[in-house]
Amino acid sequence: MTLRIGCIADDFTGGTDVAAAFRRAGLRTALVFGTPEDTTALPAGCDAAVVALKSRSTPVDEAVADSLAAQRWLWSRGAAQVYFKYCSTFDSTPQGNIGPVTDALMDAAGAGVTLHCPASPPNGRTVYQGHLFVHDQLLSDSPLRHHPLNPMTDSALVRLLSAQTRHHVALLDWSTVRRGVAAVRDAVVAHQQSGVRHVIADALTDEDLAVLGAATLELPLVAGAAGLAEGLGHAYPAAGPAAAETLPRDGRAAVLAGSCSARTLEQIAQFYAAGLPSLHLDVLAAATGRDVIGEALAWYDEQDPDLPVLIYASASSDELAAVQAQLGVAEAAARVEELLGTLAAHLVERGVRRLLVAGGETSGAVTTALGVRAVLVGEEADAGVPWTYATNEHDGLALMLKSGNFGAPDLFVRALAETE
Ligand code: ADP
Repeated sequence: MTLRIGCIADDFTGGTDVAAAFRRAGLRTALVFGTPEDTTALPAGCDAAVVALKSRSTPVDEAVADSLAAQRWLWSRGAAQVYFKYCSTFDSTPQGNIGPVTDALMDAAGAGVTLHCPASPPNGRTVYQGHLFVHDQLLSDSPLRHHPLNPMTDSALVRLLSAQTRHHVALLDWSTVRRGVAAVRDAVVAHQQSGVRHVIADALTDEDLAVLGAATLELPLVAGAAGLAEGLGHAYPAAGPAAAETLPRDGRAAVLAGSCSARTLEQIAQFYAAGLPSLHLDVLAAATGRDVIGEALAWYDEQDPDLPVLIYASASSDELAAVQAQLGVAEAAARVEELLGTLAAHLVERGVRRLLVAGGETSGAVTTALGVRAVLVGEEADAGVPWTYATNEHDGLALMLKSGNFGAPDLFVRALAETE
């Protein structure tokens, strides 16, 4: 069995997002968490595989080494082309990691040129004249300028990437993209001949991204956000009809939430308002040694098995600040992740077969606790939020792993209660 395309995502929920994009393009797609080992098995018949790393904000050397290991594994499974997926807001610093990781992947592949486009039009991310927009604002005018780890204070992608690589970076502008696939291909070749190694392409629509995808099918490495991945995916003829994974109807359904984002708090409120059973975990009590897990499981055992349940640590900003002041930010997060990971393992043992997890870090903690290393990507409940199916452990267990801010406010109710 041979992969058509491999992908390396620089964070966990970015991996889910790009895997959903490949699947929308009709490719049977697997998602692997963390650097795979030689023995990591790929579900049968996959066209695409995404390796989700945590390399966005780690030290450059580590990010490069992990990405190269992932690329080698993808090649060993037959991938002729590798896509490097980073954030649609180009989250990085002058040290990297986008530039150094792309250069290392290109060197290993012997690639002379690559094309980048972080546009994601459905999320309001567009690139025009090499400037990245978030809806109607330049990236540098958007709230991303205050990002805690990667404050984005410049919107000019050629300049941003030039600071992260010793190679030449140049723009492929929208007028060329509009002229179509052959024009883009010719422009990439012309750039390469004039010594450019990184080509930044404009894109305003999914149609533009489809043109870029079709024009870059032969490049060993292409980079950007989920939008260009979908463009590339459409350019690959799928092996067969899209996979028809279905949600298990047996067993129970649960949500575990650790995200404190505004959207997750709304989703929790809607679940509660729908009269469905929900339980808030007392993180401070757990820190003083109370058996919060035992109490939560006793509560779970009392609930109507036909209804989905919600167990959450998620807190309002005031409550979060109070917990963090008492325990410290890192210690509080570690405790919450440990609690939710342990609970996930118990719930699955007690027969949960559909598990929705809210929060990027939280999702990482839950898959690690469950020993799930790879999933097959199924249908999306909302944009970028697919059901996935465990393949190595707990075979067929349905997992929905969502970044805090993803999904409509009624996602929890719709994804679980209405599938009963
Ligand atoms: P998001 O995708 O919204 O960023 P994450 O799961 O990645 O969500 O991050 C949320 C972080 O907040 C996690 O590290 C989690 O452990 C922490 N957290 C959640 N609830 C609490 C709480 N009640 N007290 C302290 N930290 C919390």
